[in-house]
Amino acid sequence: MKPRIENLYVHIPFCTHLCPYCDFPKERLAGNRMREFLRGLRAEWSRAEREMDLQPRRIFFGGGTPTALSPTMMRELFSIAPWGSAGEWTVEANPDGFGSGKASLMAEAGVTRVSLGAQAFRPADLKWLGRRHNRTSIRSAVQAARSAGIPDVNLDLIYGLPDQGPTEWQETLEEACALGPDHISAYAITPEDGTELAARIERGDWHPDPENEALLFLLTNRILESRGFKAYEISNFAQPGHECRHHQAIWSGEDYLGLGPGAVSTVAGRRWRNHPDTHRYAKTAVAGPHPERVEEEERGEKERRTEKILLGLRTSAGLEETSLPGCEDSLLELERKGWGRRMGGRFLLTARGRLRADEVAAILT
Ligand code: SF4
Repeated sequence: MKPRIENLYVHIPFCTHLCPYCDFPKERLAGNRMREFLRGLRAEWSRAEREMDLQPRRIFFGGGTPTALSPTMMRELFSIAPWGSAGEWTVEANPDGFGSGKASLMAEAGVTRVSLGAQAFRPADLKWLGRRHNRTSIRSAVQAARSAGIPDVNLDLIYGLPDQGPTEWQETLEEACALGPDHISAYAITPEDGTELAARIERGDWHPDPENEALLFLLTNRILESRGFKAYEISNFAQPGHECRHHQAIWSGEDYLGLGPGAVSTVAGRRWRNHPDTHRYAKTAVAGPHPERVEEEERGEKERRTEKILLGLRTSAGLEETSLPGCEDSLLELERKGWGRRMGGRFLLTARGRLRADEVAAILT
């Protein structure tokens, strides 16, 4: 029987410029590469259709910057598969280059959620992050999505930046809330290996401040909860009913198919990752049998359990106590420390516990 797939991730690997902290597979926009990518994606989709029962209900187009494509390329991308029949279809966008034209194109195709990479509002923060937009373009992008009738808007934000204490971060959160988003994702700045940011740290130009980050994390929870957002995952806050269902499905351990360079899939107990280079991805996707894979593994019971605990702990739903046999003493100790609590047969982390989710996961696995 063909495996049924309801969750899709599609990676669009193009950006108008490259940010110093980013380690996602991406490259600068170039027309020939985009055409090659679209040919590869079409081939990968056709093959997946033959091998799997594709019934996408939750789709996420990430990147890169999907909206960096020209309107013609976006139309071609949207014509590859019946993406618009999914109940939830998120497309990531950058505030610069996202206006009413692309918003309408997306709404007509059936996009239900736009996720805007705002990251910050203060000019100094945006400059340090290497972003080219400003607070006016963020506001215009939100308005464009709303006017086009896209039902859900998410704003991505980053905290823990230089000279960003509680006062500056609170101002950022308040500016974000004033735009009326349905969802906010707030991430601590992370120096990924091989990035320009990691090199800056190595040179001693700057260093992260974990204590400040912890303070800002707790502040994020306090402020956003007071504005009606629910912290349904460590970095994700939604107004009631506006959670990202794609992410929730992945966190709960459902299968998902990832298409595009660098995309990861987990299907019927196997996990693989496509080659992150766009040219190699596209060339091998067209030649078949499938895009070159850089990692592929059979996932055993132990790995699945560890991942379930790790992902479950990050969510507000937590974990069923029955999924943690033999952990009674640890759960009591975590409750005593104020890191977690048991409620209705589930174990949930408190805000302080979420700061130490990895540590707690290590105790429970
Ligand atoms: S726009 Fe997004 S994907 Fe592109 S380089 Fe910047 S952070 Fe990375």
